Amino acid sequence: MVEKVTLIIDGQLVEIESGATLLEASNKIGIKIPTICYHEATTSNALCRICVVEVEGQRLLQPACIVKATAGMQVKTKSERVIRSRRTILEMLSSTMDLSDAPEILSMLEDCGADANRFPDAERRESEVKDDNPMYVRDYSKCLLCWRCVQVCAEDAQFTFAINFSGRGFETQISTFFEKTIPETTCVLCGQCVGVCPTGALKPKREYMLEQGISPQEISVMNTGRKKRKQKAP
Ligand code: SF4
Repeated sequence: MVEKVTLIIDGQLVEIESGATLLEASNKIGIKIPTICYHEATTSNALCRICVVEVEGQRLLQPACIVKATAGMQVKTKSERVIRSRRTILEMLSSTMDLSDAPEILSMLEDCGADANRFPDAERRESEVKDDNPMYVRDYSKCLLCWRCVQVCAEDAQFTFAINFSGRGFETQISTFFEKTIPETTCVLCGQCVGVCPTGALKPKREYMLEQGISPQEISVMNTGRKKRKQKAP
C-alpha cells in the first residue's frame, strides 16, 4: 500500500503520497506556485528559487520543487515574505537579461507587482546571437541559466552531452565544450533543448528568420539550396 502524508497548504488539508514534493501537493489542490527552472521532463534543481514557500518552523524559505511534503507541515505559498522574495528575483532577472521572449515570466512580474526597472544600474548580460547550425539560434542575452537545456541534452533525455556551463560567477553562460560551434559538437539537432527553453534564448531558426523579416519564400529557397549542396557533397 502506498504510504500517504497529510499536510496543510494555504489553510487547505492535502493528502498525498509520501515522497511527493510541495509543488506536487499544491498542484493537487489547485494551488499554482510559479516555476521557471522546473520542468516535468527534467530533474528539479531548485536553481531559480521562484517557487519558494514558507514552511512553519523553517527559518529559510523552501523551494517547493524539491522539498518533500511531510506529515503535519504547515505551508504558505502566498505570504508577504514569499511574494517579496519572488518579486526581488523577478526584478533582478528583468534588470540583467532580456525577457522580451518570455511571456510567462513577464506575467509573473505583473502578478507579483514587480518593478522591471528597480535596478537601473545593474549590469546586463549581453551576448551576440549565435547562428551556426541549420536548426536553431542561441541568444544568451535571453538566458537565465535555468539549466533545462543542459539537462535534456544529457541524462534527462538525449544523452548527447553537447552543451554545458562555461565561465564562473557573472560570466557563467551556457556553452558548448571548448566553445565549439554546434556542428563541431556531438549535437544531433534533436531540438529538445529548444523545446524546454523558457525564455526564447534557444529558438527555431525558421522562427528567428521570420522575426528578422525574411519571407517564408526566401527561407524555402535558402533551405532548398542547402539541401542541394548537401546532396552534392561527396
Ligand atoms: S538557454 Fe534556455 S533552457 Fe538553456 S539555460 Fe538558458 S534559459 Fe534555460
